[in-house]
Amino acid sequence: MRILVVEDEHRIAGSLKKGLEQEHFVVDLAYDGISGFDLASEGVYDLLILDLMLPGKDGLSVVSDLRKKQIQTPILILTAKGQLQDKVSGLNSGADDYLTKPFSFEELLARVRALSRRPQKSIPDILTVGDLSLNKQSFLVRRGVEINLSSKEFTLLEYLMDHSGKILSKEQIINHVWDYDADVLPNTVEVYIRNLRRKVDLPFTDRPALIKTIRGFGYKIEG
Ligand code: CA
Repeated sequence: MRILVVEDEHRIAGSLKKGLEQEHFVVDLAYDGISGFDLASEGVYDLLILDLMLPGKDGLSVVSDLRKKQIQTPILILTAKGQLQDKVSGLNSGADDYLTKPFSFEELLARVRALSRRPQKSIPDILTVGDLSLNKQSFLVRRGVEINLSSKEFTLLEYLMDHSGKILSKEQIINHVWDYDADVLPNTVEVYIRNLRRKVDLPFTDRPALIKTIRGFGYKIEG
């Protein structure tokens, strides 16, 4: 899951990125409303965390302009304490939820998880493909035995399993699994897929391989 945080206070932005990355989210940062709007307009994000008081373009204009462009990414607004009127107009302009500063990281995480589940309510916290299971809350991956994955391998596997049976191009994978700061080439995807196979498929020689290469198109996972 890839999240864009638009927040001009660098300290808050930095700690949000760090905390969310520890929870296996992929996080990009923007420090003003204009670049935040431009990035969000690309439509590659699964969630937007947006401060209201921003240089360049205020948060509410960012929300309403995104919705005008039919960008339906869920938006969590961060607002200074007591700006109740802002909250009301924030929700009216198309935001999905809001959080008052100062907030605890746990509270933010709970809202992020709730919003990220909203468009796909039927998808449970545990994904399964064949005999492989992935728990989104505990980060436990099992195929009879527990499989240890790096943070990036977990994010990649989660993305594949969220779309099991569907072919995902390298570009789609890059857009959802890596942030902008990462130096990602199509070859990087191949390397991570190979590593993932080494852990998820190769040890289980008596069972069908789950991760499939669709030559010229991309990859899919299927039981
Ligand atoms: Ca601000």
